[in-house]
Amino acid sequence: TITVVGSINQDTTLYVQAMPKPGETIRINKMVVSGGGKGANQAIAAQRLGAKTAFIGAVGADHAGEGMLALLRKESIDVAGVAVLAQETTGQAFISVDAHGENSIMINAGANTKFDAAHVRKYRHAIKNSDFVIVEFESPVADSVAAFEIAHKAGVKTILNPAPALKEIPTELLALTDLIVPNETETEILTGIKVTDEKSMTQAAAKLISFGVGTVVITLGSRGVYYHVGNQSGLIPALKVKAVDTTAAGDTFIGAVASVLRPNFANITEALTYGNRASALTVQKLGAQNAIPFKRDLD
Ligand code: ADP
Repeated sequence: TITVVGSINQDTTLYVQAMPKPGETIRINKMVVSGGGKGANQAIAAQRLGAKTAFIGAVGADHAGEGMLALLRKESIDVAGVAVLAQETTGQAFISVDAHGENSIMINAGANTKFDAAHVRKYRHAIKNSDFVIVEFESPVADSVAAFEIAHKAGVKTILNPAPALKEIPTELLALTDLIVPNETETEILTGIKVTDEKSMTQAAAKLISFGVGTVVITLGSRGVYYHVGNQSGLIPALKVKAVDTTAAGDTFIGAVASVLRPNFANITEALTYGNRASALTVQKLGAQNAIPFKRDLD
C-alpha cells in the first residue's frame, strides 16, 4: 500500500491563437478540463501501475472538488483522508497555450495549502499501514513533516518529490527522507550543483545525502535517471521515444517506482527501469492524468 499526502487540482487548459494583451478579450479555440496536482497524479500512477493507494489532502466544497474526488474514486483510490473544506476553493490550475505551444499558468492553491498537520495525524493509521508514503511541495511542508514523522516511527519508508522547487530547504523533512527524487532543476536549487555529467551527479547526490537523505534518484528527462543507493550508483538510460508532452512524466516515474519497489530497496534498479518505461509512455501522450499508463500497458 502507498499513501500519498499531497495536492489535488482541477486543470483547465485554454488553447488560444495568442495570449490576450491587458484589456483585450479573446476567443478560446479549445478548452480542456482535467484532473491534476502532483499529489493526485502520483497517486493515480501508483494505483494504475499496481499498488493499492490511499490519499490524504483537501478539496473545497465546490463542483471542482466533487469532480476531482470522483476521478480519484473511479481509480479505486482510497479518498477517506481527503478533507472537504467548506470555506475553501479546490486547487485549480489555469493553463493557456498559444499557437506556438508556449504556455502560461496561473495556480489557485486553494484547499491544498489549507489542510494542516492535525488533519494528517488524524489519518495516521493509513500511513502506518503503508509500505511507502509520498509527499511533494504543493502542500504545506509542515504536513509533509508530520506525515514523515509518523512514517519514520512506524518504519514506513518515505519518498520526497521536491517539486515545485523550494528555495528554503526544509532540513527537518530531508532528515526524515528515505528516497528523494528531484529533477535536474530541483537538484540544482537544492544543492547549488548543476548536473551535467556523472561527476556532478555524484557530487549533487553526496550533498543531498549530507542533508540526511537516505537514497537519491535524480531524473534527467530524456537521459533517464541517476541513482545513488548505499555505495552503489549509476545511470539508467530512458527509452528512446518521441515525446509529445512531458507533463506528469516525473509524477508517473515516482508512482511507478513506488508501486514496485521493495521497502528495503533491494530491487531499486529494476524499479527505476520500470519507472523509465512507465514515464516513456506518459510523454508520448497529451495531457497529465489521461497520459498515465496502466500496468497492463507495460506488461
Ligand atoms: P519532471 O517531469 O519531474 O521534470 P523529468 O523530465 O526528469 O521529470 O522526467 C521524469 C522521467 O520521465 C525521466 O527520468 C524519464 O524516465 C522520463 N522521460 C522524460 N522525458 C522523456 C523523454 N523525452 N523520453 C523518454 N523518457 C522521458
